[in-house]
Amino acid sequence: MLLGGIEAGGTKMVLGLGDEKGNILETYTLPTGTPEETVPAMTDYFASRNICALGVASFGPVDPDRNSATYGYITKTPKLAWRDYPVLPVLQKALGVPAGFDTDVNAAVLAEVELGAAKGVKSCLYLTVGTGIGGGMYCEGKLVHGMQHPEWGHIPMDVLPEDPVREGFCPYHGNCPEGLASGPAMEKRWGKPGKELPADHPAWRLEAKYLAKLCATALMTFCPEKIILGGGVMGQSVLLPMIREETKTLLNGYMTAPGFTDLESVIVSPALYPVSGLAGALLLAKEAYCE
Ligand code: ZN
Repeated sequence: MLLGGIEAGGTKMVLGLGDEKGNILETYTLPTGTPEETVPAMTDYFASRNICALGVASFGPVDPDRNSATYGYITKTPKLAWRDYPVLPVLQKALGVPAGFDTDVNAAVLAEVELGAAKGVKSCLYLTVGTGIGGGMYCEGKLVHGMQHPEWGHIPMDVLPEDPVREGFCPYHGNCPEGLASGPAMEKRWGKPGKELPADHPAWRLEAKYLAKLCATALMTFCPEKIILGGGVMGQSVLLPMIREETKTLLNGYMTAPGFTDLESVIVSPALYPVSGLAGALLLAKEAYCE
């Protein structure tokens, strides 16, 4: 069975072919331009490859509600050319195959649970920390959508007293994880991108403290067996151990299940990075085909 997947990102589109066993057979990346430029290039790629279903894992926010008139649309994105764009309906019409759709982070968590670092768990949070911050939630064996989809990057968060800036950079909230701890927030605060900041720079301890608040929030709210941290900012290897330390400090011994004393096995790196999202898109395609 040949499946098609798209991880639709704000800067690039990662297209790929895979099979029903989760193997990725081919990938193809193109820059994200306007829909008029990018969508025909994507349909051309798949049209010649005879796929039997398509999965789309998109940057958000999106409408993932199958009963909604705008199911499969990208909604209130700051990327204006894509705002209210019916990405799934357009692709499905062009290719004429069953198609599945979800957020990039929901697809990533699905892939990590089925094939990667969270294999077999019932509850998991996948957080991506890069250009933005997003979280895919898998709870009691299911992806979580609620009324729309959770926005882990935009939950309220206070500025830490040691932070040299007094206000975060999110255009909607100022202070939220995306406004305080995304790649662009780091760059605005320190005057250079994270990848240029040395491992002993105070940026990383501060970053760990903000991301630990997200981890502690997840552990306190739905007690996931795994929290997977992906995205470009996590490329700095000192960060993950610091996040575990800071999370432990925030939990302060209150949670007593065995996992809480062993955060090394709970807060982990993705096994499928950088293709977690594409692998998830292929799983969405498989689901769509089997329905
Ligand atoms: Zn925000």
